[in-house]
Amino acid sequence: MKKIFILLISSLILISCQKEKVDLIIINSNTYLVNEKFEKAEAFAIKDGKFIAIGSTKEILGSYKSENIIDAKNKTIVPGLIDAHCHFYRMGLQQQKVDLTGTKSYDEVLAKIVAFQKEKNASFISGRGWDQNDWAVKDFPTKEKLDKLFPTVPVAVTRIDGHALLVNQAAIDLAKITKDTKVTGGEIIIQNGKMTGVLIDAAMDFIKFPETSKEEAIQGLLDAQKISFSYGLTTVDDAGLDRNTIELIDNLHKSNQLKMRIYAMVSGDKQEQIDYYIKKGITKTDRLNVRSFKVYGDGALGSRGAAMRKPYTDRENHFGALIYAPERYQEIARQIAASEFQMNTHAIGDSANTWMLKTYKDVLKDTENRRWRIEHAQIVSSKDFRNFDNILPSVQPTHATSDMDWAETRIGKERMKGAYAFRNLLNRYGKIALGTDFPIEEVNPFLTFYSATYRKDSNNFREDGFQMENSLSRKETLKGMTIWAAFSNFEEEEKGSIEIGKFADFVILNQDIMGVDSAKIPKTKVISTFLNGEKVY
Ligand SMILES: [Zn+2]
Repeated sequence: MKKIFILLISSLILISCQKEKVDLIIINSNTYLVNEKFEKAEAFAIKDGKFIAIGSTKEILGSYKSENIIDAKNKTIVPGLIDAHCHFYRMGLQQQKVDLTGTKSYDEVLAKIVAFQKEKNASFISGRGWDQNDWAVKDFPTKEKLDKLFPTVPVAVTRIDGHALLVNQAAIDLAKITKDTKVTGGEIIIQNGKMTGVLIDAAMDFIKFPETSKEEAIQGLLDAQKISFSYGLTTVDDAGLDRNTIELIDNLHKSNQLKMRIYAMVSGDKQEQIDYYIKKGITKTDRLNVRSFKVYGDGALGSRGAAMRKPYTDRENHFGALIYAPERYQEIARQIAASEFQMNTHAIGDSANTWMLKTYKDVLKDTENRRWRIEHAQIVSSKDFRNFDNILPSVQPTHATSDMDWAETRIGKERMKGAYAFRNLLNRYGKIALGTDFPIEEVNPFLTFYSATYRKDSNNFREDGFQMENSLSRKETLKGMTIWAAFSNFEEEEKGSIEIGKFADFVILNQDIMGVDSAKIPKTKVISTFLNGEKVY
């Protein structure tokens, strides 16, 4: 008896000693793994930045021990979210400027500038967004108060429409202009014989804004990271970066200042930049992946720059236009096709989509697994959908709900059938990558989720949803924001789902996005964000 007892004790000790020590354990969660079978799990263990075990709470606690155990109390967990098309760096730079949109008086404008400067201590204050039509006094402001508050630091803030600029005397002195300076195509506004500080159109060009300093660039990236983490993003696809910024990101990654995983699409606007990266080949670290070029096919629908096959419905004989000559796209595509790189082209109008799909098909022929992307794929002719059989659609669901009020005015009822047609695109390729295009849209990925599934904006508008035949299911949407977005980056082996061996990137949410009442989706909040097993928000 005694012998058996000792044996039992020692085997118990043995079992507990055999428990593997890990860095972090999550238990009692409602986790969507987003694996092949779209399974759920209660618990998982993390070591060295990777998921090493997934199972029930009992199983995980039975085999692993850790000084860090988080009881998720049945909260929902999803894989770290990926924004497949955004302008991360640009959004960060925007944070270095004062945002004056929505201000209700000139005093509020001044208060915002003062608060901004207190935080940023900029050597030149710039910003945008004031609109005197929203104020009680609807006259243009004058610079006196601005001069009192900022006697030495130049201030230049643009009106919401970009056609007027309010500056202080320090900015005027720097520009070396006076009330007598001649302007054509604009105006220096004068009142009682003095400059008011408001410059219109061409007169705005006298103000030379300083170039982005390295400090501002770094601060921009860090600010963008902070905002993105607060929304559960752990990877961002930056749609168009130049070499300087990519190298800065790489350095900040290496010094561990910047943690965000970045899929950096190289701007394809300069031939020497294309040549440089093709010669250099793919750059891949755990946090940076440079293996694609972003090319602009056409403009935007709002400004009627999108290239259409037939004239715009609301402007006679106007077709919009491709950014380059058609042959230039073939030239770029041929060069990229001969390398390992991916080509990602912005195509909004049906003509831009037709041309890019044809160009892609011509150069890629039948080569497999190139995953070339059409960014936006916003208006597609019915006969072009079939060409998405091996061309990957990368779309932004909030564009659909932002544009739904006026898009039909631009292109008419018939062409609307192929507009924002996410379901149709998904059915062709079998996958779809989802993003936001922030800062054009909000960073918040839960608005993407809502727009994709219920085709409504954050005000719950349109009651029945916009062109619901093109909505995605919640499951498809979550995949589009995780595993399919990872696939669009050639990264599905390392991220996009909670599976053993992958990076421990995940997000704890305040509600079950897969089951909650639809109207509550936009209110989803991130409780915490983990990247590489480290809590970053
Ligand atoms: Zn974009």
